[in-house]
Amino acid sequence: MGYRQARWEEPLILEMGGSGRRGYTLPPIEPGVVEEVGSLSIPEEVKRKEHPRLPEVSEVEVVRHYVRLSQMNYGVDSGPLPLGSCTMKYNPKLPLRYLNDSSFTMLHPYQDEETVQGILEILYEMQEWLKHITGMDVCTLHPSAGAQGELAGVLAIRAYHDVKGNEGKDEIIVPDSAHGTNPASAAMAGFKVIEVPTAPDGNVDMDALKSAVSESTAGLMITNPSTLGLFEEKILEIADLIHSVDGLLYYDGANLNGIMGYARPGDMGFDIAHVNVHKTFGAPHGGGGPGAGPVCVKDREVGGGLRLSDLLPGPVVVKEGGKYRVKWPEPPAPGALRGTIANTGVILWGYVYILLSGPQGLREATEMAVLNTNYFLHLMREEKAYSLPYGEGRWRKHEAVLSAGPLKEETGVTAKDVAKALLDRGFYAPTVYFPLIVPEALMIEFTESETLENIEAYAAALREIAEEARRDPQRLQRSPFNTSVARVDDVKANHPRSVTPTWRVYRLRREGRIGPLR
Ligand SMILES: *Cc1c(COP(=O)(O)O)cnc(C)c1O
Repeated sequence: MGYRQARWEEPLILEMGGSGRRGYTLPPIEPGVVEEVGSLSIPEEVKRKEHPRLPEVSEVEVVRHYVRLSQMNYGVDSGPLPLGSCTMKYNPKLPLRYLNDSSFTMLHPYQDEETVQGILEILYEMQEWLKHITGMDVCTLHPSAGAQGELAGVLAIRAYHDVKGNEGKDEIIVPDSAHGTNPASAAMAGFKVIEVPTAPDGNVDMDALKSAVSESTAGLMITNPSTLGLFEEKILEIADLIHSVDGLLYYDGANLNGIMGYARPGDMGFDIAHVNVHKTFGAPHGGGGPGAGPVCVKDREVGGGLRLSDLLPGPVVVKEGGKYRVKWPEPPAPGALRGTIANTGVILWGYVYILLSGPQGLREATEMAVLNTNYFLHLMREEKAYSLPYGEGRWRKHEAVLSAGPLKEETGVTAKDVAKALLDRGFYAPTVYFPLIVPEALMIEFTESETLENIEAYAAALREIAEEARRDPQRLQRSPFNTSVARVDDVKANHPRSVTPTWRVYRLRREGRIGPLR
């Protein structure tokens, strides 16, 4: 059920403790060390003028401070977190046993290959499993997230056309339901982005797509099931259309958990696909990381003795004569995207998730995710405050996008107000205002993790909020009341500088320039 976050004013760690208070004791400084450091010629301009402002607190103060902060927070380990598209599934704890084991923690990414055959074997096996799951031929585990996998993929598309001498291929087609990273990745790789609309049945509008496709089409990026949770029924036709102008199909794998074990991008005509290990395979994520976005390709021939896998901007672990070896990309492949093979910790987490699940477990995860979504929609079918745009009468896969449009029309209460009111009831809010084609969008994804009771309680909370909106909309527009932080400035909160160093907050508070957070 819901989890009420603790609600209090927590001081900054700099505002706690007292001068000289310590949580540790260090051995005395060895004779000669001070003189030795003093003799180093450190340039004057880089030397500190004052002592750094460090917290002076005892161990128990530190522990209590961070435990209290954690209780003001909300995560998958405290209650339902149905953030659509993000796939916030429960993260099994068993992988921690291996991640914390010194045979893993003591490895260095630049160690000689001979000495890290064990982890290379794991990475090799993971590549093999992902090939099997996606229906592709070659995988690199290299990219650090789905978005970087997309960039790797579109750079490979560019290299494909360069090698083939295809002139004027400078357009990537993206449906209007796409995640923002798709057009961003295409643009970063130097392509023009051509948007195609979604038809009322939830599939890509085929007429619009046909008129968008031309000799300039370098490729198409699409996720299936879409961000509406709907399976793209015309995918084979779409693949033929794109291939007919020698374009490549890129699969955004963020929604793989809606079909895993049942359908594979490789069988749908896709040439390149990424996988979000931190979504589909249960590695913890949030707040921007950490992630892993392996990219898999069909090993089609490109010409000049090259294959598509030769154009991947990431290393592949290969097995030769019983030994594992890392094969780094070489021109004409775009260069590597990071300094090391992969975010190995995240890969290892996903590896253990797949190992624990087995093929049958992965299929069951998909089944549960789909069942949970459709059961939730069944519970919501009578509630007129929320509509279900696109694909009327169609089953959803792993997620569904409701619109609070009718509620707003009737009461003035918006999707954002609904999200805040859910926090008051001890639930995490869904993804709001995405995909952009659904007004007042509430994008809900329970994953395989959620219990029947939690789904029923969540649906009940949404219905209750609609009731309250009809009775007292003003109160809802002021919510939340039960959280430590209420409404923040959305624009400022999105700004990179919203991550203000603690010492700066401390100074601003002391000068009376900012008050408490609420
Ligand atoms: C999360 C997501 C991405 C981006 O993946 P990251 O791993 O967050 O970089 C792309 N597309 C969709 C549909 C997503 O949900």
